[in-house]
Amino acid sequence: MTALDRRTFLTGSVLLAGAALTPPAAARAPSAMTQGSGVYRYNLGNYQLTALYDGVWYVPIDEKFVRNASGAEVNDALAAAFLPAGTLPISFTALLVNTGAKLVLIDTGTAGQIADTAGSLLDNFKAAGIDPKAVDTILISHFHPDHIDGIKTKDGAKIFPNAEIAVPEPEWDFWMDDANMSKAEGAVKRYFLNARRIFKDIAGEVRRFKPGSEVAPGIEAVAAYGHTPGHTAFAIHSGNQSMLAMSDTVRNPYLFARHPDWQPVFDMDGPQAVEARRRMLDRVAADRMLIEAYHFPFPACGHIAKTTGGYEFVPTEWKPL
Ligand SMILES: [Zn+2]
Repeated sequence: MTALDRRTFLTGSVLLAGAALTPPAAARAPSAMTQGSGVYRYNLGNYQLTALYDGVWYVPIDEKFVRNASGAEVNDALAAAFLPAGTLPISFTALLVNTGAKLVLIDTGTAGQIADTAGSLLDNFKAAGIDPKAVDTILISHFHPDHIDGIKTKDGAKIFPNAEIAVPEPEWDFWMDDANMSKAEGAVKRYFLNARRIFKDIAGEVRRFKPGSEVAPGIEAVAAYGHTPGHTAFAIHSGNQSMLAMSDTVRNPYLFARHPDWQPVFDMDGPQAVEARRRMLDRVAADRMLIEAYHFPFPACGHIAKTTGGYEFVPTEWKPL
């Protein structure tokens, strides 16, 4: 240390010591009543992606929730994730893909029609500085209400009035079939009726795509049947980078990535859903591919590592662009 440095250093110390003698002003920091914005941006090749949070639904679950695991095993898995027993937190995060030429929204949130704690998607569009009218294309993964309700308000008005809506053809064929609906009961019956509420009067405008095809620029539909008959994931490619939007293939990472063979009652065809889940988890783990998943904790993106018994979700770290 030179003499000059030492003098500067000592002066600094003296100033600090002096400051400590002055009593601090009383802190006045009332608690905020709302959370910060649910917006997280990241880049993939030349595309910019925006994770837009819609909220969370705390779903009570019982011992029948997983067909092939006991209630105690499920509660142990929740405890291992530091979550309370008997409740599954299901968050909703829609993914907006800006290709540079098009704005593509993958799934649409709940429009406040599922849980009081969800329905903030449009607030987060606003926070992100994006006008819902600017969305060009909506891609739907499947017809469960938490993925399609955001197409319309409760009163039937389109929320993204200029967007073309594209849906998996096998999903459309299953849910819009009256013979299938007549056989359904309970919640599944309600899903049939809800699909009609959303799609019936706009049926002529809805594009139906075949999984395996490119459904928007750089976005390829990938069959992931089982959760529902036409449940679809989306591989997004830009430049030399790719990622997989897994939709509901895994649903909750602490239950179904760690225990990929578990069959929740949400999966309409349990064994087929397990096959899709394992196939996709294997692919993204082997390729070290970035993933996004609609119900994962916000911002719902990260990576998947293979473990001895299953897979582990490694969330992305918040970082500046
Ligand atoms: Zn879902």
